[in-house]
Amino acid sequence: MSKTFEYDVIIVGAGPAGMTAGMYAGRSMLKTVIIERGGSGGELLNTEAIEDYPGFEHIEGWDLAQRFENHAKKFGAEFHQGVVLTVRRLEDATFEVETESGDVYHAPTVIITAGGTPIKLGVPGEAEYAGKGVSYCAICDGAFFKGHVIAVVGGGDAAAEESDFLTRYADKVYLIHRRDELRASKILQKRLFENPKIEVIWDTLVERVEADEHGFVNNLKLRNVKTGAESNLAATAMFVFIGFRPNTGIIEGHVDHDEMGYLLTDTNMETSIDGLFAAGDVRSQLTRQVTTAAGDGTTAAIAAEKYLASLRDSSVGRIVATGGYAV
Ligand SMILES: Cc1cc2nc3c(=O)[nH]c(=O)nc-3n(C[C@H](O)[C@H](O)[C@H](O)COP(=O)(O)OP(=O)(O)OC[C@H]3O[C@@H](n4cnc5c(N)ncnc54)[C@H](O)[C@@H]3O)c2cc1C
Repeated sequence: MSKTFEYDVIIVGAGPAGMTAGMYAGRSMLKTVIIERGGSGGELLNTEAIEDYPGFEHIEGWDLAQRFENHAKKFGAEFHQGVVLTVRRLEDATFEVETESGDVYHAPTVIITAGGTPIKLGVPGEAEYAGKGVSYCAICDGAFFKGHVIAVVGGGDAAAEESDFLTRYADKVYLIHRRDELRASKILQKRLFENPKIEVIWDTLVERVEADEHGFVNNLKLRNVKTGAESNLAATAMFVFIGFRPNTGIIEGHVDHDEMGYLLTDTNMETSIDGLFAAGDVRSQLTRQVTTAAGDGTTAAIAAEKYLASLRDSSVGRIVATGGYAV
């Protein structure tokens, strides 16, 4: 049977941004719920090891995720399992959030921390060897491939920029592109072509990712789309940069976003809809890391608390304010 809930703050997504926002909102004594469709951790659960989160020189993704969850719970944030279908602003300026199971949540503020999804190639071996050579994040995983021969797939700005970045670690980077010209900006192409460690393999698709007996990537099966010729590339990693889809489809009505669909916010993480905040990977910004997601989540929760205080002062909206924590 579906249920109805009242909160001060509803957070959509229990990734690093959502759980940090939950921790701060709970600490501010706000009645806070984090609704998550999968396991707590978001992309941390797809990450073997994190080596760039301050204070942890090396920590496994699931372990950091668990610590984020425990910390948010300690300060009173509640975790509910559910797939959020819609976030709707009502006429009284509060929000209604509906889940797949029919549960309805009400609150004067919502923080969207639903992240995004890197677009996959969809070839055999890609999902199987994710985290064992297949990656969608150069900053995150590049350092694991010092002195290796690796491949990058794509033809846009991200592929060009990250190929160049990856040569800091790899001895050789093959950029595999399905066409005979790149979409990347001219300045990035110039940098790419001038880099002696990068070689472009044109008109080519990756057909299959193969691995050694320990499950680590050691070969890519390639096919030239013009000649049909098949070949092998002995690479130990495949970085895929063919796009990233922010999870913003749940927001009903118009909300400002950039040309890629990422939500635009002000410096308080507030979107173009009053009381609707966004944090982490779902937001338009320079880079997407655990640190930036946590920083955004912090700002969003504190800004949401100030927004609620301003509503309270003007006696608008419904403030539950029964949250809190026990220490
Ligand atoms: C393979 C990989 C390796 C990475 N390695 C590193 C690294 O080493 N260091 C680093 O700093 N960063 C790394 N990153 C980036 C980092 O993981 C992200 O920047 C960070 O997780 C973003 O946090 P987030 O909370 O914004 O989004 P996410 O982590 O994507 O979390 C979003 C959450 O929202 C949930 N959600 C989405 N839609 C709904 C819905 N409709 N209803 C309910 N729940 C929903 C999702 O299930 C997910 O749990 C890596 C990313 C990838 C993909």
